[in-house]
Amino acid sequence: MAKNLLVLSSGGDAPGMNSAIRAVVRYALFKGLNVFGCELGYQGLIDQKIFPMHAGSVANIIQRGGTILKTGRCLAFQDKAVRQKCIAFLAEKNIDYLAVLGGNGSFRGATLLEEEGGPKVVGLPCTIDNDIPNTEYCIGFDTARNTALDAIDKIRDTAASHNRHFIVEVMGRDAGFLAVDVGIAGGAEIILTPEFPMSVEQIIALKLSKSRKKLTSIMVVAEANDPGRSIKIAKEIEEQTQLDYKVCILGHTQRGGSPTAIDRKIATIMGAKAVETLINNQSRKMIAMVHDDIIVLDFPASNAEGRRFDDKALIELNNQICNI
Ligand code: ADP
Repeated sequence: MAKNLLVLSSGGDAPGMNSAIRAVVRYALFKGLNVFGCELGYQGLIDQKIFPMHAGSVANIIQRGGTILKTGRCLAFQDKAVRQKCIAFLAEKNIDYLAVLGGNGSFRGATLLEEEGGPKVVGLPCTIDNDIPNTEYCIGFDTARNTALDAIDKIRDTAASHNRHFIVEVMGRDAGFLAVDVGIAGGAEIILTPEFPMSVEQIIALKLSKSRKKLTSIMVVAEANDPGRSIKIAKEIEEQTQLDYKVCILGHTQRGGSPTAIDRKIATIMGAKAVETLINNQSRKMIAMVHDDIIVLDFPASNAEGRRFDDKALIELNNQICNI
């Protein structure tokens, strides 16, 4: 008898989730599975909101940001009794396989569901922060960095016209991947990440040490789990130097938008690999990118720290290029 696969998105959204959902659904159908979708992450399991999906259910979504399945955080799912009800519901619906698009929190939920008697589970790493342990790439990262880069290019125009200095604050939670890529590609004079923090005094010293006194400049600041922190940084710089820094916090614009070619392609390959993994009777696996290959790994340990940016030489290189 044909096996039944359920797909859901959970946690924060990321551009490319739709491309991944499309690949999971279509590849599973190609492999002869019945496919179901679940709305709003684990909340949808609790509310029993699952529905059949066909090839046409995912038509015309490869280019759309967000997730057609909707997503969210669901505190109740951390309760074992609640998960037991979900497991009973999934058994009643004969769900054999569950594909989860999300981050390590979502994978923790999936692990517990499986361990406590639920279907086999596989995870697709999705977050613009690119910080899920053990994978070099998470779906959504490339789109977010291009969205932020597009904003910087626009800010550069007005900065140059008015001789202004700008701080552009990007997301990334407590990782600096987004800030570094956006800063380098955007020609930012200073890149501030949580992994390599600088005091305001150090920022000022770096700024004033430049031999060429630029009339305009861009500093990219990672939110570092403290969204809006760049307003305080700008104020402190202004108090000490009289340099007027304008602040632009890109916020949730980075989470939306049409996924780039890279995100669509990786999401498509990861989606198919996720289905293949389940069909091979593997469970508690994450599809990951390692050395540019898309491979299957165990879920990260439940207590694993998020991945952190560690290439200090890259920031120094940017300083050297921008300090001349
Ligand atoms: P992400 O998956 O992006 O890391 P969260 O950490 O918010 O996002 O996790 C998403 C959802 O996964 C949570 O709202 C919850 O439903 C589920 N989840 C996370 N951690 C656990 C856990 N320890 N036990 C059960 N469910 C969990």
